[in-house]
Amino acid sequence: SENQKSKIKNQDSNIYNVGIIGAGTMGSGIAQVAATAGCQVKIFDLNADQLENAASALENILSRLVQKSRIDEAEKSRIQGNIQYVNTLEDLSDSDLTIEAIVENLEVKKKVFAQLESLVSEDCIIASNTSSLSITSIAASLEKPERCIGIHFFNPAPLMKLVEIIPAVQTEDHITETCVNTIKNWGKTMAVAKDTPGFIVNRVARPFYSEALRMYEEGMADIPTLDKVVRQMGFRMGPFELMDFIGHDVNYVVTESVFAAFYFDPRYKPSLTQKRLVEAGWLGKKSGRGFYKFE
Ligand code: NAD
Repeated sequence: SENQKSKIKNQDSNIYNVGIIGAGTMGSGIAQVAATAGCQVKIFDLNADQLENAASALENILSRLVQKSRIDEAEKSRIQGNIQYVNTLEDLSDSDLTIEAIVENLEVKKKVFAQLESLVSEDCIIASNTSSLSITSIAASLEKPERCIGIHFFNPAPLMKLVEIIPAVQTEDHITETCVNTIKNWGKTMAVAKDTPGFIVNRVARPFYSEALRMYEEGMADIPTLDKVVRQMGFRMGPFELMDFIGHDVNYVVTESVFAAFYFDPRYKPSLTQKRLVEAGWLGKKSGRGFYKFE
């Protein structure tokens, strides 16, 4: 209702109903961000277990915030009350903005976008949280590609301030403006970036990982030493710790994708050492072992 809408802090973006596709790491975090800002969020996943996991993960996160007196019980209920976990894509049909955070696969994303467009209104903005795919190519799967845009959050979405906004070649300026205002209302800072492989962060970070991997492969120093030195230079984490945190599957695929997208420029060449970790299932923190062992 209008009354509810006026509860959203700054009302200059007209985004109230938000649909999230994919309830994994990123989708569930983005849902929390939007719900906290006062939007009505519906989150859909093909896998019903993931929806349950997302709901219980949010319960844990918010309970911890209550324990730490960062929020009160009323705020916790308000945030949870703003999120609905839904079992069909059709449930997202009343969205003003949808953000897709499913598997990083262009063909799968294109299919979902085409299906989504047939369900939502003419003015619904259709966004992707892709890390490395071309927004322009995703947009091309739509009848109205001018409403498609990249809204790229970082993990964990509720904590990471930065969001990249990536207009496709086809995106209309007013769509970009609405997204910039919305993301600002959600308490984030943002950079608008051109649609190039890796955008800003995932491109500028490539040599941080790959040069460290090369140094390790050359036997220049061991992994804890390389991490420690980088940390002592003022980085929050060393390159190996960070790759273990991100997950080698995710990190490796982004490198592969940026490498291919730049016509196999050797500057972006992926590392065989990292590929072996992925093959071994040593994905880092989430699997209990990567470069380091986790308890
Ligand atoms: P994830 O594997 O944790 O979650 C993906 C979810 O999508 C899963 O729950 C899966 O069941 C669901 N899904 C898959 N296909 C679907 C479909 N067709 N319809 C509905 N749901 C479907 O992945 P993630 O790490 O959250 O990444 C999601 C997206 O965000 C990817 O495009 C990724 O590149 C991007 N991204 C990831 C990170 C990160 O650090 N993990 C950071 C920024 C962006």
